[in-house]
Amino acid sequence: MNLPVPTCADCGVARFSTKPKKSPYCRRCIGRHTGRSPARRAKCSAAMKAYLADPNALAAHAKRTGDGLRRAIAENPEFAEKRRELGRMIGKTRLGVMNRPAGCPSRILAGRRSGATKLAWCPVEYRDDYRRLVKSQGLKAAEARKVIEDQIAADAARFAATGVLPQSRRNEGAPA
Ligand SMILES: [Zn+2]
Repeated sequence: MNLPVPTCADCGVARFSTKPKKSPYCRRCIGRHTGRSPARRAKCSAAMKAYLADPNALAAHAKRTGDGLRRAIAENPEFAEKRRELGRMIGKTRLGVMNRPAGCPSRILAGRRSGATKLAWCPVEYRDDYRRLVKSQGLKAAEARKVIEDQIAADAARFAATGVLPQSRRNEGAPA
């Protein structure tokens, strides 16, 4: 007894499998059809948004994808170079910059976040000092960081000896 072999509704490939078919398409075609259907895309988008609305899920997702990306960059120089090249190309198009001029709310927020990431090593009360070293005194970032870290160590030593926070006194304009 020969049953008719089911075929893909798109590419017509024969689908040899004893399992009942959930979709009229083969594995190679189903993704394309899902991607083209507005209803399916809306469903996927809603499911993803609901999943990532949980801060723990979002953090886990960001860690997983970030780890994967960093691993790929470390293990595959070709991938890293392609990614760098792609970034340069996208940067040159100025996409996303023209609609966001300097001083607009999203640029201010981006600057604040990027500053918080880059200055994560520096306690908040030392950040003005650090900025002064880099901006007015023309020190390189690494040199300025060394100066601030020495200052933090000196202040900590003085605090241990005197019980007075030198940094808070300097901020109030008192002689250190
Ligand atoms: Zn197919």
